[in-house]
Amino acid sequence: LAGDDADAREAMIDAINRPQTEKQTGVVHLVGAGPGDPDLLTVRALQLLQSADVILYDRLVSDEILSRARRDALRLYVGKAKSAHAVPQEEIEQRLIDYARAGNIVVRLKGGDPFIFGRGGEELDALRAAGIPAFVTPGVTAAVGCAAAAGMPLTHRDHAQAVTFVTGHAKNDGEPDLDWNALAAIGHTLVVYMGVAKADAISGKLIENGASPTTPVAVIEKGTTADEKIIKGRLSDLGVIVRAGGIKGPALLVIGDVAAKARGVLLEELAAVERRAA
Ligand code: SAH
Repeated sequence: LAGDDADAREAMIDAINRPQTEKQTGVVHLVGAGPGDPDLLTVRALQLLQSADVILYDRLVSDEILSRARRDALRLYVGKAKSAHAVPQEEIEQRLIDYARAGNIVVRLKGGDPFIFGRGGEELDALRAAGIPAFVTPGVTAAVGCAAAAGMPLTHRDHAQAVTFVTGHAKNDGEPDLDWNALAAIGHTLVVYMGVAKADAISGKLIENGASPTTPVAVIEKGTTADEKIIKGRLSDLGVIVRAGGIKGPALLVIGDVAAKARGVLLEELAAVERRAA
């Protein structure tokens, strides 16, 4: 795939001539599946899905994406819902190692990008420590996919000179431990992953640290999919937006002037839109 034909030819001839009894070592690919829409898979991700012997996938990976995988690939769900870990992280890592040692082409398929809040770094460390060849294929991270779907630039010469991705997930269910003062800066887009449950605390902290209560926000649920929901409003109403909009996740909280540019329903219009739909 890298275009190195000479080495590829040599490796192929070597593989053909190797005695059958010699055990082949496998490989693990950490692959980003993108934010949901299968059309946002990279060409390389698609090629790897079609060559994989074993696929270990997360909750955020849709059936539509899995349906693009090689028909006879072994598919293993290792996803976790918040605080209910289906398969513990160490066990996922051990399975990757074991399947690779057995000679398989293993694809570890993750929502978005493997290296953005995806524990891809931990898995890569474990694979390296075990001496397993491992490669990473990037994916469209949720913030980038959702911004495109919503028609909302994450940076803008007039409105945002920086963008920051943070996790709203907090240990022990407390408030996320972040540098709120820096995050409240103007001319800055803040994208919160895993922040739905903490929407009130996040807006409170930002306002406490100097952000204007009228700063535009957009909450984007299941972005890029058929079930996408985008609700807009002001920072002081962030928690209200989440509740009134029935936002369960996966969703992003986008905070900053660019959020006003998102296509979507305003909080004030929400009731009227729902009445019309009913
Ligand atoms: N590695 C992933 C993020 C995993 S963390 C990536 O790069 O996108 C999981 C969080 O990602 C969710 O809680 C949600 O905040 C966000 N997310 C993932 N897919 C999303 C989508 N389609 N729409 C909105 N948010 C999404």
